[in-house]
Amino acid sequence: MQLSGAVIDGAPQSGGDLLEIVNPAGGDAAGTLSAAGEADALAAVAAARAAFPAWAARSPEERAVLVNRCADIIEANAEELARLLTLEQGKPLNGMGSRFELGGAAAWTRYTASLKLPVDTIQDDAQAHITVHRKPLGVVLSITPWNWPVMIGIWHIMPALLAGNTVVTKPSPYTPLSTMRLVQLLQDVLPPGVLNAVAGHDAIGPVLTAHPDVAKICFTGSTRTGSAVMASAAPTLKRLTLELGGNDAGIVLPDCDPAAIAEGLFWGALINNGQTCAALKRLYVHDSIYDGVCNALVDFAAGVKVGNGLEEDSILGPIQNRMQFEKVSRLVEEAKGSGARLLCGGEAISNSGYFYPVTFMANCEKGMALVDEEQFGPALPIIRYTDLDDALEQANALDVGLGGSIWSADTARARDLAMQLECGSAWVNKHGAIRPDVPFGGVKASGFGVEFGHYGLEEFSSLHVIHD
Ligand code: NAD
Repeated sequence: MQLSGAVIDGAPQSGGDLLEIVNPAGGDAAGTLSAAGEADALAAVAAARAAFPAWAARSPEERAVLVNRCADIIEANAEELARLLTLEQGKPLNGMGSRFELGGAAAWTRYTASLKLPVDTIQDDAQAHITVHRKPLGVVLSITPWNWPVMIGIWHIMPALLAGNTVVTKPSPYTPLSTMRLVQLLQDVLPPGVLNAVAGHDAIGPVLTAHPDVAKICFTGSTRTGSAVMASAAPTLKRLTLELGGNDAGIVLPDCDPAAIAEGLFWGALINNGQTCAALKRLYVHDSIYDGVCNALVDFAAGVKVGNGLEEDSILGPIQNRMQFEKVSRLVEEAKGSGARLLCGGEAISNSGYFYPVTFMANCEKGMALVDEEQFGPALPIIRYTDLDDALEQANALDVGLGGSIWSADTARARDLAMQLECGSAWVNKHGAIRPDVPFGGVKASGFGVEFGHYGLEEFSSLHVIHD
């Protein structure tokens, strides 16, 4: 499939050098993209700026109707989009793969359409009448990563539109096809210029982030790029939501039954092959059940098929790109060399495609790069602890703070411990469960601002106070 890398003012643009989008499972390219360049980036912002007054002037109810129609479009085209997503991203059609991602995108869109921005009354008496209104900001720039491209795009786009903003979205050069196709399809219900998209080389990113007509940037990606985006946004004082990297810790208390928690731990860590911002990336297990948890995880992994995502029985696919594949391989090799014990996996599966097996490593410790760095792949370090305070201290020791979890039969105690984790979301006996009605975001170097629910929606508006 060949797609345009620019949808501007309602229409796909032609031209641009052709980029082959790699299929991470190997073989033929996933598709071809005519890359957007600087002129397209500027035109996309201009189109969004021009469309803003009329879109903002529509009633919130009218916008909600159109956002709901976007959900209809996603549902009607889910299978086509899921296949495209599998081709470029690698995730399987089944399991928590492409169909799941498209289902989530539709569900998030529908839920967002049901939200309202309230008018608050601070005082209403003979002395004063003071009301607080939420107004749209203008042009919102959405920049997305390659791990959940469709769903994360929807997380940015739909609340921005509902709140009355217009949008330019820029998907990752690794996974632009599903987003560009979705944006094309959504033009059937959205007025021209309300939702624009540009995809191509990373170089168009800075053109967009520095543009004076962009009012807000919603960025999801690495901490390093997030920091560059923030610097670029500073001269024109843009608002920011930064959803950045994490290195989530999970702490398993000695009262757990290893067999009972293995599945939850497995999917907490391995969802999307570990390429998930709020996946469990460091597992701390009490000495008394350490071997039991390790064995239960290895047993569970044995039943999970890693294969080409287009095969209906694959449950995990390849790593998405060569850079990430090499990073995971390097971290595992370094851990082996530093005394970690391989429980399963640990060697690339084949030379065709970026297939890497589920890899669990025991006897891991702080100071190993596999523990201290975000691996963003299917390799989980398991760290033995005896003193809970020490485990908590290690969990909180890194500069990132996206998610965390406590696993225990005593949920009240686990909740108290979860309160001590330095992160935006902490779960008890699960990890990474997100919902469209619950705010989600990071602390420390995992970013700031939240998405989802009314908390997330409000970030796409500014307060306007009227004293009358
Ligand atoms: P990345 O930072 O390399 O790229 C993210 C996006 O930024 C891409 O679209 C890329 O083209 C663009 N970009 C690159 N340089 C830019 C620049 N100078 N200016 C503007 N845009 C630029 O991240 P990635 O490798 O695609 O994604 C993986 C990372 O994303 C991981 O660290 C992961 O934890 C994080 N992530 C965080 C969340 C969250 O909600 N906190 C969700 C998903 C992924």
